[in-house]
Amino acid sequence: MNTPLRQVSVLGSTGSIGVSTLDVIARHPSEFAVYALAANRSLEAMLAQCLEHRPRYAVLMDADAATQLEARLAGCSDTVVLQGEVGLEQVVTAAEVDCVMAAIVGAAGLPSTLAAANAGKTILLANKESLVMGGHLLMQAVRRSGARLLPIDSEHNAIFQCMPVDGEARPGLAGVSKVLLTASGGPFRHWSLAQMHAATPDQACAHPNWSMGRKISVDSASLMNKGLEFIEACWLFDLRPDQVEVVVHPQSIIHSMVQYTDGSVLAQLGNPDMRTPIAYGLGWPQRLASGVAPLDLIATARLDFEAPDEARFPCLRLAREAVATGGTAMAICNAANEVAVAAFLEGGIRFTDIPVVIEGVLERVAAVEPETLAVVEAADGEARACAGQLLAGWGLNKADVKLS
Ligand code: NAD
Ligand code: MG
Repeated sequence: MNTPLRQVSVLGSTGSIGVSTLDVIARHPSEFAVYALAANRSLEAMLAQCLEHRPRYAVLMDADAATQLEARLAGCSDTVVLQGEVGLEQVVTAAEVDCVMAAIVGAAGLPSTLAAANAGKTILLANKESLVMGGHLLMQAVRRSGARLLPIDSEHNAIFQCMPVDGEARPGLAGVSKVLLTASGGPFRHWSLAQMHAATPDQACAHPNWSMGRKISVDSASLMNKGLEFIEACWLFDLRPDQVEVVVHPQSIIHSMVQYTDGSVLAQLGNPDMRTPIAYGLGWPQRLASGVAPLDLIATARLDFEAPDEARFPCLRLAREAVATGGTAMAICNAANEVAVAAFLEGGIRFTDIPVVIEGVLERVAAVEPETLAVVEAADGEARACAGQLLAGWGLNKADVKLS
């Protein structure tokens, strides 16, 4: 008997995770169909994806881009074009949708991830910022609706694979003493503070092991990515902060580990290619072919480990402090980071200014209880405004960067 096709909505389809997701889906045409694709404004990429994957719906946030997409698809495709938040919510909550890949970048992903959780969907969560910002709300929505939350971030996917889970994909903590969250150390692992001070956006985005979008690449270089993942791990697996230890592992072959009370440590290994965690999420609890080359341990030869250096990479400490403060502090930390990273990518501030902006915002914006989405969004807005004011006071710095 044929099993029905699983209908997948891919949010952030034109990005790095979105493209890898479509690659895995295309390898299994008798198991998955693309229900919807959604992106911000990348018209040409979305047009090509619509023609190749024939989704029922395509959503673009940008109204002009959506109008142009509709015109370009007229006569050659049955795909219906939708626009904006309303369109996004429609393709996440539709009764036909089984599975939502949440791969929008940044805080912009929270409303759609939350809508998928409230609608009880299977969520493949790449958008870590939505958990960092609204972890309390998201986990509550998942529990209430019976949604299934499968982590796609490679570290959390590894932890998920190494933890005992029940039939509903809910990880248990029986016998678990702690989680060892691995970090590659990023492109500046050996750089001095003085070198990082002069780092360019392209240098920050040149990750040694992973090919990713620019925002997460900068986060990896500053170790804020590990800070966000630290928060993500606490929410996803219901861990206390002292149960999550960050270990630098430059080869990115071990994607994270779970340590048990009997002394066992379980690890998940593989080549650094996001199609492995994506295939695991799509297929769970079965395994799917992903197109990833088999791991060659002899060629890998070495697996090294070292402690993170929080003096050169203060973002990790800032994320830890935000967890300790609790409430909306994590949303404030995330928002300040997004503003600082965008300013760095535009050449407005130095790489080493990123943690300075975040610390300044965390000191100035008070955290409150994250009771509703409106409260979390207000904290996000306040933090962005505060970061903007701090940056506006740094006119000289801006000129410096353009000259260097
Ligand atoms: P990317 O920049 O390559 O792609 C982002 C996607 O989001 C694009 O399709 C873009 O059009 C869309 N988008 C941006 N703003 C939007 C908005 N306001 N509304 C709707 N769509 C919007 O990013 P990426 O590297 O694919 O990362 C996506 C998410 O996955 C991030 O949260 C990142 O932290 C997480 N993640 C990525 C990787 C990776 O290897 N790239 C690994 C782990 C986790
Ligand atoms: Mg990761």
